[in-house]
Amino acid sequence: MTEAPKKILVTGGAGFLGSHLCENFLQKGHEVTAIDNFITGSPDNVAHLLSNSRFRLVKHDISTPYQPTGSVDAILNFASPASPPDYIRYGMETLDAGSLGTRNMLELARSKKACFLMASTSEVYGDPLAQPQAETYWGNVNSIGPRSVYDEAKRFSEALTMAYHRYHRVDTKIVRIFNTYGPRMGVEDGRVIPNFISQALLGKPITLYGDGSQTRSYCYVTDLVAGIEKLLFSELHEPVNLGNPIELTVKQLAAVILQMTGSKSSFVQKELPPDDPKVRCPDITRARRELGWEPRIGLEEGLGQTISYFQTQLSHK
Ligand code: UDP
Repeated sequence: MTEAPKKILVTGGAGFLGSHLCENFLQKGHEVTAIDNFITGSPDNVAHLLSNSRFRLVKHDISTPYQPTGSVDAILNFASPASPPDYIRYGMETLDAGSLGTRNMLELARSKKACFLMASTSEVYGDPLAQPQAETYWGNVNSIGPRSVYDEAKRFSEALTMAYHRYHRVDTKIVRIFNTYGPRMGVEDGRVIPNFISQALLGKPITLYGDGSQTRSYCYVTDLVAGIEKLLFSELHEPVNLGNPIELTVKQLAAVILQMTGSKSSFVQKELPPDDPKVRCPDITRARRELGWEPRIGLEEGLGQTISYFQTQLSHK
């Protein structure tokens, strides 16, 4: 696919990542339709885009077919709850989005001869036994645990995507997204960065799950969006990890946030959720080599932007 102006459909377009993608592709001169059922996304995330004549917001659940009139050049399939508390709460919806939803969007891509990009996840590696995780690692997923509604839905989405590529020659891409953060994550999102920043700013205890020795690697949202854009315009059909390989324990992350907010919050230990991965760090060799991509925004810079956003959000509460 060339970079000439395109008609792009972003499912989950009113979510955290979806809204940043819509904004990015509008800035680059494309026409963008965001589809969202608003169970975890919010129209507020794209309110600032509604005045743009090249933007459209459609309320629709992708687990039922969607057949717009007119051409579609690319579909970015980002519709799914993504925070562990959200996907566990909306387990059936998460399974539907990753099975029926992905199938409906792949059918649409096939009928419109559009390019299809699947938002997959580092959760396909489960609680990994390989460190860091390269795309060649097949993962260690509990298929019946509480996280399986998300993990297996995304793994099935990957299988469907590859099948449409193999059997129907759809131009498909798969991005495996590692922990990403930034403005427009909801205050109630439940993931570690929104929780710790809100708790620090409100002077509430920081909720450490387990002993806080588990690790994650955090990518700032604009870096991720730049990588997704490169992937969309590439000829790569194999999955690609996108994430920031700088790895921290959860406890180290808490210390950075406390220091940056100047907060005096104490710590409270909570039970570690079942199957919570003990380590996670992307091997981004493939993205570096094939896309010439690597993250540029350091943790302090990204957290600074995110803390400012949360300060504004919390002052309106
Ligand atoms: N976590 C935590 N306190 C919180 C929220 C999360 O200690 O208030 C931990 C969680 O157990 C996990 C890590 O932070 O080990 C990242 O969790 P998150 O929900 O952000 O996403 P995950 O990487 O597990 O999908």
